[in-house]
Amino acid sequence: MPPKRNAAKRKESDFDFGDDSLSEDVPLDDSEDEKPKKKKGPAAGGRAKKVTEAYTDENDWSFQPPSLLYKSYNDPEPNDKIAAFDLDGTLVNTKSGAQFPRDDLDFKWYNKNVADKLQSYHEQGYKIVIFSNQNGIKSAITGKAAEKLKGRVDLIVAELNCPVQVFAATLEDNFRKPASGMWEYFCRNCNGGVRPNLASSFFVGDAAGRPADFASSDKEFAEAIGLPFRVPEDEFGEMEGKRSLPAGLMKQGEGGELVVANPDNAGLVHAFKQVADNAFAEGATEDAGDFLWADVATAPGLRAAADPKAKFKGSANKKVAGVLASYPITITLNNLKEVGKLQGVGKGSIAKIKEFLETGTLAELEGVDDLAGMGRAAPELKSRGADAADKFM
Ligand SMILES: [Mg+2]
Repeated sequence: MPPKRNAAKRKESDFDFGDDSLSEDVPLDDSEDEKPKKKKGPAAGGRAKKVTEAYTDENDWSFQPPSLLYKSYNDPEPNDKIAAFDLDGTLVNTKSGAQFPRDDLDFKWYNKNVADKLQSYHEQGYKIVIFSNQNGIKSAITGKAAEKLKGRVDLIVAELNCPVQVFAATLEDNFRKPASGMWEYFCRNCNGGVRPNLASSFFVGDAAGRPADFASSDKEFAEAIGLPFRVPEDEFGEMEGKRSLPAGLMKQGEGGELVVANPDNAGLVHAFKQVADNAFAEGATEDAGDFLWADVATAPGLRAAADPKAKFKGSANKKVAGVLASYPITITLNNLKEVGKLQGVGKGSIAKIKEFLETGTLAELEGVDDLAGMGRAAPELKSRGADAADKFM
């Protein structure tokens, strides 16, 4: 992990919210027309530099230092009734199944009810506002990651037919949920001076501190503000497909090793890591020296070792190890259904988890490798015949 930049350590006092926190005594700006002066935004794909000045770019995305990106779509009007939503895991998931969206188009709705539900709130007189934490945008706000985020949000909102405001916190600072900086900025600067009525507004988010949740930042955000809180299941019904992992979930320790959130799951995580390491070790034979390649034509075992499937297997199992490492509750035979909803955890992985829970190990770690055709860790080159023999040992 690169060291955090100074901006990430800013305190609330660094924010330009005025001389104290938002309270009933503080008059709100009517500052829809006080947007930062329009100027040409940073070039897409440009080298990320630390941005310290507010700007609004040519696509109407505004930036408030140190980390807030925001935009209004379809001319939302000031309103005291706010229907507020988290974005990822609440309104959308990634279509690719990737932890991070791969490109602008990498999203799908949480389920088919979402767009209609938002439209209906609009018709009932609510203003729709999205408050999203985004990771992977470092000093950014000018670089590719920021451009990708802006483009993706533009495409998501384009599928909605109602006015929407979007706020995205991109650093670990007071704009980031569960801190209330995004909400305060919205109230002060982006609602035409109208103070939201908290009792008739609400916030929906998936980070609710439930047993299978990875965080409680959405719930804490709502609580800090005083907004009624709901989870997406309550609001939209059951999610379609797999659950996206929150960005930045794969925690790594100093040495790059996985940090296991729940020590009870350490053995399971280690088993998947071992499967991944073994597969990578097999795949790596592909990169071996010429003297090995000279033998490839004649040695079936070597062809198996160079199988790209081994690398795929390594990646898939490494991902599962990371997901399980992040899972906060003890994995048992009783909650495999929940575990199976995690991104990257398919039926094959569930079968392995079940096997591990029932037997304390995985057969393939005992010397049989089910995909690449090589034995455990494959310290020596073996022929397929030798492997076949292993299966009966
Ligand atoms: Mg979320």
